[in-house]
Parts: sequence; C-alpha cells; structure tokens
Amino acid sequence: MSLIVQKYGGTSVGTIERIQAVAEKVAASHGSGDQLVVAVSAMSGETNRLIGLANAIDEQPNLREMDVLVSTGEQVTIALLCMALQKLGIEARSYTGGQVRILTDNSHGKARIREIDGHRIEADLNAGCVVVVAGFQGSDEDGNITTLGRGGSDTTAVALAAALKADECQIYTDVDGVYTTDPRVVPQARRLEKITFEEMLEMASQGSKILQIRSVEFAGKYNVPLRVMSSFEEGPGTLITLEDDDQMEKPVVSGIAFNRDEAKLTIRGIPDQPGVAYKVLGAISAANIEIDVIVQNVAKDNSATITFTVHRNELVRAETLLKEIAADLGAQEVDSDSQIAKVSIVGVGMRSHAGVAAQMFEALSKEGINIQLITTSEIKITVVIEERYLELAVRALHSGFGLEGEGTEEV
Ligand code: ADP
Ligand code: ASP
Ligand code: MG
Repeated sequence: MSLIVQKYGGTSVGTIERIQAVAEKVAASHGSGDQLVVAVSAMSGETNRLIGLANAIDEQPNLREMDVLVSTGEQVTIALLCMALQKLGIEARSYTGGQVRILTDNSHGKARIREIDGHRIEADLNAGCVVVVAGFQGSDEDGNITTLGRGGSDTTAVALAAALKADECQIYTDVDGVYTTDPRVVPQARRLEKITFEEMLEMASQGSKILQIRSVEFAGKYNVPLRVMSSFEEGPGTLITLEDDDQMEKPVVSGIAFNRDEAKLTIRGIPDQPGVAYKVLGAISAANIEIDVIVQNVAKDNSATITFTVHRNELVRAETLLKEIAADLGAQEVDSDSQIAKVSIVGVGMRSHAGVAAQMFEALSKEGINIQLITTSEIKITVVIEERYLELAVRALHSGFGLEGEGTEEV
C-alpha cells in the first residue's frame, strides 16, 4: 500500500463541478488501495477576492488579520471536497492547518513551516479515511493563524509528504506538467518528462509560478518524489528528480523563466570608496526590502553607479530610502524604472558548455532587444530588459535554444 499526498490548485477546485471531479479522482486512487492525504487551495480567484476586500478597508491591513481572512478560502474547499467524497461513499475528514498542527514561525503572510504533527492524520489513514488538509496555512506557537505566501499550498503538500514519509507527492494543476516555458506565453512550449530539483528551483525562483519555491526546496531537502500533473486529463506529468543520470545528453537549456514582478533603482555619482555598496544596499536590506540583481560600475572620474532590483511592491519605499542615502553620500541622482522584466535561461547542461551566454545575447540582439542588466549562476543566465519586449524575448530564446517541439521530450 502506498501513501500518496495529492495537491489540487485553485482552478482544479474552481467550481462545484470541479470539486466533484476531484472527488472522483481521489476516490479512484483510494479505490486502488492507496492511502491518501489531499491538500487543497482556495477556489480560483477567492484569495484575490479576499485580498480585495481587505484593501477596500486599508491598503496595508494588519498582517495577523490578513491571515485570518485569506486562510478562509482553503477552509471552504476542504469542507466541500469532504462532502463530495462522502457523497461517493468515501470516508473523508477535513482539517485546517492549525488543527493538524502545522506549526510555523510567526511571519504573517510569509510564514515558514517548522514542524508537522502527523498523529491525527496517521490515525485517520489507518482507519481507512481520506484526509483533506487546507493548503497555504498553519499556526504559530501561540495558535495564531499564519499563511505561507502566495502559491503556498504546494509547500503544504510537499511538507506533509515529507513529514508522513509519503511515497509520492502529486501536484495537480491546470497544465499537464512542467513545460520548457509558460505555455500561455509560448504555445509551442514542450512538456518535460523530468527536470532536476536544481533546475526546478532556479525556474521557480526566477518566476515560474508553477511551483512555489519553498515547495521545491522542501522536496529537495527531504528527498520527496515530486510530480506535477493535470487534474483535467490523464498523463504521466513531469517528475522532479534528484539528479539526472544522462546529464551529458541533456540539452544545454532546459527551460525559460520570466517575471514582471521587479523594478529597477539606480543611484549615480557616488564616491568610489570602500564601504559605499554597504551603505547603499545595507540600508535597503535593513529596511527588510529584498534585493535581487545588483550591478556596480565605476566611471573614469572615479564616481560609482549602483543599479539593483527590488519587488515592485517595495519600489516606493526603496526609492524614498535611496534618496535619503543619496543625500547622505552626496550622490548625484537617483532614478527608478518599474517597466522592466527579467528573463532567465536555466539548465544543468550549461555547466559543461561554453558560449551559452553569447548565444542568448545573440538571440536577443537579433530581435533588437536591449539588455539592461545581466546576472549568472552555474546553471542560469538572467537578463533584465524593457517589459514591453518580454514575450518577444521569451519566444526568441525558446526557439533560439531549440526548445520547441511537438509532443513531449524523448527520454
Ligand atoms: P495552481 O492554481 O494549480 O496552483 P498555478 O496557476 O499556480 O496553478 O500554476 C499553473 C500555471 O503555471 C500554468 O497555468 C502556467 O500558465 C504557469 N506556468 C508558468 N511557467 C510554467 C512552466 N514552465 N510549465 C508549466 N506551467 C507554467
Ligand atoms: N490560495 C493561495 C493563493 O492563491 C495559495 C495557493 O493557491 O497555493 O496564493
Ligand atoms: Mg500555484
């Protein structure tokens, strides 16, 4: 008998009919003898609707109350799914994160899971029940409701799978696997039969919202076999594997990720002295603003320019702070640009190939796309470009690296 954790995302449980269809799927797995724990998201659009209600009262609502509010979305789904399962004659019990005892830290809105108590779930499983758990939520030491950040139900599922030592964690969504890039942007994108944790982590951290980053980190750390598949159609999906055995055969680039979540800030004319980067970026970090890409240049007159990116939501705060820092350092000017996008090519094959960056820049230059910033890691090259060229850039790179194809990758 296998223990499987399944997760169904928002569109998979978006209507009563969809919830009934999920119940049928769960019932089929249960019928084949597997023990099942099911984590679910809120019905599609619900989390955004709740955030909208809060913002109608306050643009920056209290974070504890925000978690009390947004966690209700998942509570609705667990109850409805259990009812649908019971209607099919399956014994099922729902639990909120706090009821399971998914213990998190107290960072409301971006809490991290510390520990999961599997006792209640195991007792139910042993009694032949399907256990349905609300994704995206937990509770802190004092019993306050917390949430794990947008897309957090993925992390609930993988963390449950790790805690319960499940045989597989299956993430059911509205696409039938992980593609070479977002199929909504490039219709020729191809489903990958498998992808390494390392690559998936880069894809997720560079903007592919198919899996929340934390869920991939968890799966890698606790060695949870993870599969992304469709709740709408049958198929093998994409397996996220520890290491690829046939790395030499791998294409240089496995996938392309992108995001429009960031904005760029530049401070010019600062004296080029030891400690200035710290003064500028240290102050931004101290204000709890996350910095992503950083580039520094020094001109002939020994004045330095530092450019960096932050989340768009933090732009106003970061710019105000940067202007204060500029006045302090006697810098010439500060400017900002929120109309940027970040595009990354990802692949473990890059380790053993030279000239990948040049190939990327060539593909972009052929389309007349100007590169503003560049950053690299061992298995990734990222460029920041003007936002209006984003889709063009993704398509050019997708075809430039020969990623499109019909059907799925041969393995
Ligand atoms: P869920 O509600 O099931 O969690 P999400 O909307 O969070 O679903 O994630 C699925 C979506 O991720 C897809 O509809 C697709 O548009 C997008 N996506 C982005 N990058 C990729 C990729 N590389 N492969 C597949 N889907 C991707
Ligand atoms: N409902 C939450 C969100 O929309 C969590 C999730 O769907 O994973 O972000
Ligand atoms: Mg999601």
